[in-house]
Amino acid sequence: MEHGGRGECALAPATGAAVGGVPYGGRVRVPRSAAVNGHEPVTTSDDAALATPAAAGRRGKVEAPTGRFADETRLGLVRRARRMYRSLIVAFPDAHCELDFGNPLELAVATILSAQCTDVRVNLTTPALFARYPDARAYAEADRTELEELIRPTGFYRNKANSLIGLGQALLEKFDGEVPRTLEELVRLPGIGRKTANVILGNAFDVPGITVDTHFSRLVQRWGWTTEDDPVKIEHAVGALIERKDWTMLSHRVIFHGRRVCHARKPACGVCVLAKDCPSFGAGPTDPATAAALVKGPEAPHLLELVGR
Ligand code: SF4
Repeated sequence: MEHGGRGECALAPATGAAVGGVPYGGRVRVPRSAAVNGHEPVTTSDDAALATPAAAGRRGKVEAPTGRFADETRLGLVRRARRMYRSLIVAFPDAHCELDFGNPLELAVATILSAQCTDVRVNLTTPALFARYPDARAYAEADRTELEELIRPTGFYRNKANSLIGLGQALLEKFDGEVPRTLEELVRLPGIGRKTANVILGNAFDVPGITVDTHFSRLVQRWGWTTEDDPVKIEHAVGALIERKDWTMLSHRVIFHGRRVCHARKPACGVCVLAKDCPSFGAGPTDPATAAALVKGPEAPHLLELVGR
């Protein structure tokens, strides 16, 4: 089956895994009111999300939210997280993997190349690469010098060439040249960590997965969705808040928001659609005119229109 994507997956090989049935225990605090911060309750079929403690662990290095979010119940957190996700759907209806690919192998290769490299540059590099190496055997039998030259613009090209040749060999030897469809099998392949595996599962095989990259980590910490700083623990925590069917698109939308609005240094708080639900409002300029100038990307007019600019 052919799969296509346009992309900004932002996927440096690292950690992160699709997580289901997170075994958190703990007492559920009963909220005083069904409404949280004046917003309507979330209707959910995911009772497991409500049966877990307010934060999926407080042992990380990130500070817990303060102010009006300090006493948030588990139920309140789940409602707020899902309300924020609904806002992200409106903000980024077309969020997607921004790496270009036509099949699972191409996505795996593009993802490996995206480590420490922009998706734009990867997308400029991969057309010639995909044409020259159409299948796993081609990578397995690649002339290293030629392969390195083709992928040199993406940086770290020697290590990446090792990964691609190793990937081709492993796919040939263990999977008949096909990219496997399970996390357990994917993470055993050269160059593929849990984060990359989740991207492949979510975008090539439609298996829900949470991709925890630098943007995702920063944002969910700012939002007080978790205090963890370990990618796998972050994934567990977020997976317990948001319904599994939404995990892949949540990842895209959070990353889109991180790249366009909630920047690491100067988040555009003054024009952010999540402002009312964000414990970190004020981390960046709150003056709308100043904040508006910080919004990036082709969605900027739409994003500003949503907040009345
Ligand atoms: S209010 Fe500021 S810190 Fe919070 S999500 Fe928006 S841009 Fe990021």
